[in-house]
Amino acid sequence: MGEAGGRARRGWRRSLQVRHVDAGSCNGCESEIAAITNPVYDAQRYGLDIVASPRHADVLTVSGPVTRQMAEALRRTHAALGDPQLVVAVGDCACGRCPFRGTYAAGEGVAGVLPVDAEVPGCPPTPEEIVRHLRALMTTPWPRPR
Ligand code: SF4
Repeated sequence: MGEAGGRARRGWRRSLQVRHVDAGSCNGCESEIAAITNPVYDAQRYGLDIVASPRHADVLTVSGPVTRQMAEALRRTHAALGDPQLVVAVGDCACGRCPFRGTYAAGEGVAGVLPVDAEVPGCPPTPEEIVRHLRALMTTPWPRPR
């Protein structure tokens, strides 16, 4: 059994590396995501960290409704993640509840482009909620039932 298979059987448990993509948000969700690693919320104490490259990430977090301009970039970023991988939609827009949903520029949310493993609702969701959802994924075996 390869390393990926071993991780799949036991879940992530100890750490989760996160790559974030802004797919057309208003920056509200970005501010909250950026805050999870500040000294107040200190997500790193749980083994959560934000990384610069999708090749180093286990999780892809996405905010915004996924505009038409960002859909292909989001697909390519997702393809660059290692395996196993998870996708988390952060904020109401990413969860498909954007007021501009379905207009000429905005898409249907992340689920219209990628398989979504978890949704963090809110406009924007708080750092506590984002951390709570990511921590819940750390003990989730992979692949998850869809
Ligand atoms: S969910 Fe709210 S805060 Fe987040 S991108 Fe959409 S409008 Fe902005």
